[in-house]
Amino acid sequence: MKLGAALPLTLSVPARLAARVMSPFARVRPGDPYWPTPAQWDELKAAVGGNLLEPHALFAPCLADAASAACAEVSGNQRNPFYLGDQPGGTQISGWLDAWTPAPSAYAVKARNAQDVAHAVDFARTHNLRLVVKGAAHSYLGTSNAPDSLLIWMRALTDIQLHEDFVGAGCAGKVAPQPAVSLGAGCMWIDAYSAVTTRAGRYVQGGGCADVGVAGLVQSGGFGSFSKGFGNAAAGLLEAEVVTADGKVRTVNACQEPDLLWALKGGGGGTFGVVTRLTLRTHVLPEFFGSGWGVIQAKSDAAFRALLARFIAHYAERLANPHWGEQFAVKPDNSLKIGMVQQGLSRDEARAVWAPFFDWVKGSADLTITDELGASGHKAQSWWEIQGNPSMIPDKRPGAPPDHGYWEGDQDQVGVFLHGYDSVWLPAALLERASQPRLVEALFAASRHKEVGLHCNKGLAFAAPEAIKASLDTAMNPGVTEAFALAVIADGERPSYPGESRPPMDMEAARRDARAIDAATAELRKVAPQAGSYLSESNFFNQRWQQDYFGPNYARLRKIKQHYDPEGLFIVRNGVGSEDWSADGFTRLR
Ligand SMILES: Cc1cc2nc3c(=O)[nH]c(=O)nc-3n(C[C@H](O)[C@H](O)[C@H](O)COP(=O)(O)OP(=O)(O)OC[C@H]3O[C@@H](n4cnc5c(N)ncnc54)[C@H](O)[C@@H]3O)c2cc1C
Repeated sequence: MKLGAALPLTLSVPARLAARVMSPFARVRPGDPYWPTPAQWDELKAAVGGNLLEPHALFAPCLADAASAACAEVSGNQRNPFYLGDQPGGTQISGWLDAWTPAPSAYAVKARNAQDVAHAVDFARTHNLRLVVKGAAHSYLGTSNAPDSLLIWMRALTDIQLHEDFVGAGCAGKVAPQPAVSLGAGCMWIDAYSAVTTRAGRYVQGGGCADVGVAGLVQSGGFGSFSKGFGNAAAGLLEAEVVTADGKVRTVNACQEPDLLWALKGGGGGTFGVVTRLTLRTHVLPEFFGSGWGVIQAKSDAAFRALLARFIAHYAERLANPHWGEQFAVKPDNSLKIGMVQQGLSRDEARAVWAPFFDWVKGSADLTITDELGASGHKAQSWWEIQGNPSMIPDKRPGAPPDHGYWEGDQDQVGVFLHGYDSVWLPAALLERASQPRLVEALFAASRHKEVGLHCNKGLAFAAPEAIKASLDTAMNPGVTEAFALAVIADGERPSYPGESRPPMDMEAARRDARAIDAATAELRKVAPQAGSYLSESNFFNQRWQQDYFGPNYARLRKIKQHYDPEGLFIVRNGVGSEDWSADGFTRLR
């Protein structure tokens, strides 16, 4: 069924303009003669039940009146990720130096269901508008932000349904029933974890950051703390409801349009259509979740190299397995920060894993423990509980859902203005005994420029075999299964939203910082020249993104894009097919 086909949305386009309006080469902007008339916008508004908004920039109220209550509200909430996600003009990142700046769309459809989305897609296609889709607004690359566009805003689609025996549409008798959860595309991971783990005692593989959107993360592949056990988030996608560029609402799964399902599993958000609902496999919840932590500082460069060598050997022997994910960081001040997370080990088992390394550290006169060392394991079901959890910051706004909270460790990222960002999948071969000295030297050299974070849950070497198998059936670069970690090098400064009152930015220092990020990344690329990069956490300026993000999967993704979106209605920065368009997505280049 082609929803929206019955609507008179196209009828009000004057016939003499139709040919120009339908030109695929240049999208229209407000003020252009072909921009829809107020009456046409009213037609769209009626079609979507009145839910057509004119979003404003986050800090517009402060520009209008710095003493207003509206300005006080945004200023007081600018470090609350739930508040930022609740604003149609909101972004979780306040910009990226020389890359992109938050700017509101001209109009936004606050979608209530797939039919609203179909109306918006039909309207954008008919009037040749720049279209953009937003979930929870966490794109570092700014791919849910496009000035002069029509935004389809998914925030309100928050239905959740648990299934004991899910069978996809058209799959009866072909695919065995399995436990699953269906999530509206406006859900964040905390919504999924509260429903699936806290309340129902099962597990769903999603993201680490609790306030990231489910649809954006799954479409970029997506990793959570326990991905070494369960694979990337996309690996769990059983079915999606998606509105494609022709305005058709499709239900895709292993039995219906499996190519499109595969493309949605890591082929990039905002590229193949608008996902309105996702159904993800759920798993038996492990008995324990826990951590390993501490900060150790070396007293000299030589001692730091020795510390890194000992830690890498310990990682290879004891941590490179399906239990241990999350991060360690190698810092310019010669310290090693450990923030690892585990699934499936009791407190005693977790402590036993770390004991040889911690004992070695305690016995070394060349090292200082600057933050207590420890390891834990506790009841997995309470991992995402907000009340009484000191690691979680609740959304304190009146009326906020009691299960909305985010990790304290993610606070610094809320509203950050980025100087630079890059990532490299580090091959597991670097952990072989003979190669460890090269890895240590590369980490040491990179850390002379910037802190390097190694996100071990974002490389799937040493993951559970089923997790690797399922992750290989996604569009993500298969190189991810040969990497032990994603090295992330990024930095920025306090929020700098347009219109926000703050001291001027030191541009010279910011550019110096961006160059330091490039220099650190270059050191890692010396030992991993062919390594890929994770599209959601990568460099805006990456010139070889097709290869880095998707590897050999890119050719298939291009074909699927051509089939479902031949006119390029869905274009995002570094997205499949974006090489055919200008950087702003307004002009077709070929
Ligand atoms: C603070 C922070 C923490 C993060 N932590 C993690 C992490 O732990 N693990 C991880 O893997 N990644 C993480 N990321 C990266 C994150 O997964 C991606 O940026 C993801 O795409 C964000 O999805 P979103 O809906 O929140 O963002 P948005 O900016 O709304 O969307 C991201 C992209 O997906 C598209 N999109 C969103 N919803 C839909 C939809 N329904 N249909 C079609 N396209 C859609 C948008 O158009 C955009 O291109 C983090 C990012 C930030 C800023």
